[in-house]
Amino acid sequence: MPELPEVETTRRGIATVMPGRTLRQLIIHENRLRWPIRPDLPALLENRTVLACERRGKYLLIRFEHGTQIVHLGMSGSLRRVPLDEPLRKHDHVEWCFDDARFLLHDPRRFGAVLWHPDTDGPLAQHPLLANLGIEPFDPGFTPERLHAGLRGRRQAIKPLLLAGKIVVGVGNIYASESLFLAGIDPRTPGSRISRPKSVRLHAAIQTTLTQALDAGGSTLRDYVNAQGTPGAYFTLHAAVYEHQNQPCPRCSSPIRRIIQGQRATYFCPGCQKR
Ligand SMILES: [Zn+2]
Repeated sequence: MPELPEVETTRRGIATVMPGRTLRQLIIHENRLRWPIRPDLPALLENRTVLACERRGKYLLIRFEHGTQIVHLGMSGSLRRVPLDEPLRKHDHVEWCFDDARFLLHDPRRFGAVLWHPDTDGPLAQHPLLANLGIEPFDPGFTPERLHAGLRGRRQAIKPLLLAGKIVVGVGNIYASESLFLAGIDPRTPGSRISRPKSVRLHAAIQTTLTQALDAGGSTLRDYVNAQGTPGAYFTLHAAVYEHQNQPCPRCSSPIRRIIQGQRATYFCPGCQKR
């Protein structure tokens, strides 16, 4: 699944091209995504100029002068720049055509979304999909104190708490396992049992893990391609524990364990990660 680093890598890619350009054609080849794409969207956007490409959580925000396109890559989506004459592939569902640039949303599982939020509907931050998101991990307001405060009184285990995205967004499945390994915290520890010193370590580990993934251009999806169409850097990020079950821990050589938490796989080292 594309996670925050992939989405941010995609944002950086489209942000180098789209802003300042006028969208000539929006072509919907398949409107049955997670929610149907409204049929009048091309008419609303054609010959309008993109102002900015932003991101909130895993939502790409393509800003126009009269509203914002909210794009989600779902479970399997990618949004990439392609040559003007490149033939469509199967699962290319939406096409953004500028005079000298073209982008395709490719989404085999069709859990992605292309929505429209007109400015007349009110502030974008109050959109139902965005209103309840946790703080961005690189927002200066995301501090160890804030993380600790968010975990206070939470009986749920720390791994699913991180995945839920209500305390901080963007710590998806691979990054949650890797961050907890780096911080030396057992993923089964209840949120309320994460001490202040552990919150400090976990905060630092989250930022380190996400920074490394961003530097690598996103890492979680094997067939991921970024907005320039070049393959993602999955193999260049060397996960310490993720998908390493039964392999030796890089620190202590204990076998890495795989457990299921909230229907998602968690990987950890029972030797290094303590409650
Ligand atoms: Zn270990």
